[in-house]
Amino acid sequence: MDKLLTEAFEQAGFTLNDKQKNQLITYYQLLIQWNQRINLTAIEEEQDVVYKHFLDSALFFKASGKVDHLSLLDVGTGAGFPGVVLKIMAPTLSVCLLDSLNKRVDFLQKLTATLQLEDISAIHGRAEEWGHKATYRQQFDLVTARAVARLSVLNELCLPFVKVGGRFIALKGPELNNELADAERGIALLGAQITDIIEWELADTFKRNIIVMTKTANTPQKYPRRAGTPQKTPL
Ligand code: SAM
Repeated sequence: MDKLLTEAFEQAGFTLNDKQKNQLITYYQLLIQWNQRINLTAIEEEQDVVYKHFLDSALFFKASGKVDHLSLLDVGTGAGFPGVVLKIMAPTLSVCLLDSLNKRVDFLQKLTATLQLEDISAIHGRAEEWGHKATYRQQFDLVTARAVARLSVLNELCLPFVKVGGRFIALKGPELNNELADAERGIALLGAQITDIIEWELADTFKRNIIVMTKTANTPQKYPRRAGTPQKTPL
């Protein structure tokens, strides 16, 4: 797996040191082990995990630039994607992982302890609730999410956590279809602007869109609306 990691990450312009490779290998082993007991991922093959989870998560850095000593929240992190991969690759990031499934949070706590990661926490609950807590609302330099909801929904779950001047970086799949157009109104209501869209492609097989939004004003207090409403009636 060591060689596979080196090759995959180098193709995308990333260099991993030995410590990072060992951490990713341990992450893989724990993921597969816990996946027998709780549903963490449908992807188990080494090569697939390296490309579709690890490298895909790392593509965040294609949009973020330098992140030294910034704070980051990963909303709907599941088994830690992208948040745990980002912490491994950028150890000075201060990371918070949020997920509404308690069993996944148990896994994340075991994982981050085993990897001896510091300045990383895993919290249980819904973004619609945590987004109203004073110590989380508008507190993060960076917020990210992958595979949680379409943009028109995701923005309401994520943008309230971003401090003014900070960024929400959404990792999206190969096709955006109408997602951007549908999300436009909500982005403005929530106090943000799209500032970058990066299309990234690896050898015609692996295409991703990374959407960057910058927070330019406070999010009005009524957002996020109560749990379930963003999904039922997107802004
Ligand atoms: N981000 C991970 C990834 O890319 O592999 C997990 C994706 S999984 C499809 C979606 C995750 O988002 C689930 O673990 C689910 O529990 C979590 N989730 C969905 N809605 C949420 C909400 N409103 N607040 C917090 N977590 C949420």
